[in-house]
Amino acid sequence: MVNWRRLLRVSNRSFLAFIFFFSMFTTCLYFIYAAPGIANTYFFMVQAQGIMLRDNVRTIGHMIRLYTNKNSTLNGTDYPDGSNSSELLIQPTTFLPENFTYAQNLPCPERLPSMKGPIEVNMTEIPIEEMELKFSKFFDIKFGGHWKPKDCKPRWKVAVLIPFRNRHEHLPILFQHLTPMLQRQRLQFSYYVIEQTGSHPFNRAMLFNVGFLEAMKDLAWDCLVFHDVDHIPENDRNYYGCGQMPRHFAAKLDKYMYILPYNEFFGGVSGLTVEQFRKINGFPNAFWGWGGEDDDLWNRVHYAGLNVTRPEGEIGKYKSIPHHHRGEVQFLGRYKLLRYSKERQHLDGLNNLRYAPLYVSLHGLYKNITVDLQPELAPIADY
Ligand code: UDP
Ligand code: MN
Repeated sequence: MVNWRRLLRVSNRSFLAFIFFFSMFTTCLYFIYAAPGIANTYFFMVQAQGIMLRDNVRTIGHMIRLYTNKNSTLNGTDYPDGSNSSELLIQPTTFLPENFTYAQNLPCPERLPSMKGPIEVNMTEIPIEEMELKFSKFFDIKFGGHWKPKDCKPRWKVAVLIPFRNRHEHLPILFQHLTPMLQRQRLQFSYYVIEQTGSHPFNRAMLFNVGFLEAMKDLAWDCLVFHDVDHIPENDRNYYGCGQMPRHFAAKLDKYMYILPYNEFFGGVSGLTVEQFRKINGFPNAFWGWGGEDDDLWNRVHYAGLNVTRPEGEIGKYKSIPHHHRGEVQFLGRYKLLRYSKERQHLDGLNNLRYAPLYVSLHGLYKNITVDLQPELAPIADY
């Protein structure tokens, strides 16, 4: 009898322990495989708090030094390290005056009077048909999403590439903000939505490679902007033209408390000239699922002897459209691949991609390229 009760107690306890460990285990699995975005956002938030705290301590320390040491000055050189310290310097930002006159035979300037700064962001969902009607009527967008300025020669011909799967309600919100901004920047542009079908994990990087090769069939684009569908710029001085160096436009995201999560962060919205993109052999094709492909692009850029520039201060701010979708599966193999970025750079990218789009269709505001991505489309002997 006594033995039996004891046995029952033990099994009760082990049953509770089993429930506890099982729920812990499934929660971990959920965050790793099903919702990596949430887990990583949380991780970055914690990290951001740390960075903010460190910056505050540094600023307070600096103020104390200023008050106690009469020789120190506020010329900016007193901030020897720290990622945000350069923002304390005043950046010369001279934009052209309102009465600036354009000439059809001259390149459009980069700092136009029409670029006013902060944009009001509106996340209200709108039907795409309504958006298409409005834009073709008032914004002079050609069927298929093409536009170019008429009063000057566009400085850059920009193909905006958007990786896509099942985020239909995001597209109109993005176009609504991006279109007037790109027009104010007097850039020639088209939108390409590269949609993945099939049952494989999402491959953002490979979609960009496909988008690039398809876009180049239309026009000799010279600048490529790789744009997540859920990133909305908050400032129209964030110029979407390219430059001497690859650019990371989305430097400050609301979801990361407007702090760059880490110096090598290259996600969200980035831009390269066609020449730079070819030089680095494009994006890798080997990243299936969430994460790592942007870090690999960062590595490729640096191994090719290039650097990344970012917009200053407030200009690089973005809001993310909150998504009520299940996150993409996390790609756990990314750490291993990232260790061999250099070796893989010339084996995996534009040069090993063999694909055929499933179908290509023109819509009012964009061109849709649908592809069924499979690992066999980008064969590589060994990662
Ligand atoms: N994306 C998509 N459908 C998906 C997963 C990703 O369209 O199921 C595209 C979309 O453009 C998105 C980008 O890939 O903005 C990055 O994915 P996600 O937003 O899930 O990444 P996170 O913002 O969580 O890093
Ligand atoms: Mn996102």
